[in-house]
Amino acid sequence: MRYAIFGDVHGNREALEAVLLDMEQARVDRRLCLGDIVGYGADPVDCLRRIRDLKIETVQGNHDSAAVGETPLDYFNPFAKRAIEWTAGRIGKEDAAWLKGLPLVRDCGGFTLVHSSLARPREWGYILDYEAAQRCFRLLSSRACFIGHSHVPLVFRDHDDAVTVRRAATVAIEQAARYIVNVGSVGQPRDGDPRAAYGIYDEGGGTLELRRVEYDIPAAQRKIVEAGLPEFLAVRLEAGR
Ligand code: ZN
Repeated sequence: MRYAIFGDVHGNREALEAVLLDMEQARVDRRLCLGDIVGYGADPVDCLRRIRDLKIETVQGNHDSAAVGETPLDYFNPFAKRAIEWTAGRIGKEDAAWLKGLPLVRDCGGFTLVHSSLARPREWGYILDYEAAQRCFRLLSSRACFIGHSHVPLVFRDHDDAVTVRRAATVAIEQAARYIVNVGSVGQPRDGDPRAAYGIYDEGGGTLELRRVEYDIPAAQRKIVEAGLPEFLAVRLEAGR
């Protein structure tokens, strides 16, 4: 079974279409989404409906939650806040109900999905260091946890309680180890590479691949500016920061 795992689409329709096409070409069997479908970008409703209509199983992200009034806006920086308010004004009743109904954690058999961390997922903490990774590993009952949230692709490996971290593009999954994998962001990468990011987990082959996909960045930027969203949100797309 080959799984495509992606998230942090953030209303970037151009980036979403590019990764969906790449998944098709990479012949994946199942697609899964780590949340933050909306927020920042100019096409929140299109992205939400695309993912919902494709019946892609999804967990809820902090922007999804805030856009439907479940996470307080004071959690966010001014740019994010402005984008969430703009987004909330565009999401109708039915779409809001779908976002509200998304679970925070999904057990997918051999692995788990959560937007931020298994440790208090509703508090939206980041896994950027060993301590945060360990807190999540302690609560992980499967062999791998896929996450998003920081928009920075990273692989944490836990073996005999020793946690190491890697940024490699391809990782051979070891039977004796467990993993927390941040697949990066489709719609707003922040690791200095502006291409859309997502992961392919090949369960049978025992490999994990963190992929990057080119997309029409100027088109996404234009829409952000035309929508009256903060210009910084357009500028950062070409820097990947
Ligand atoms: Zn995000």
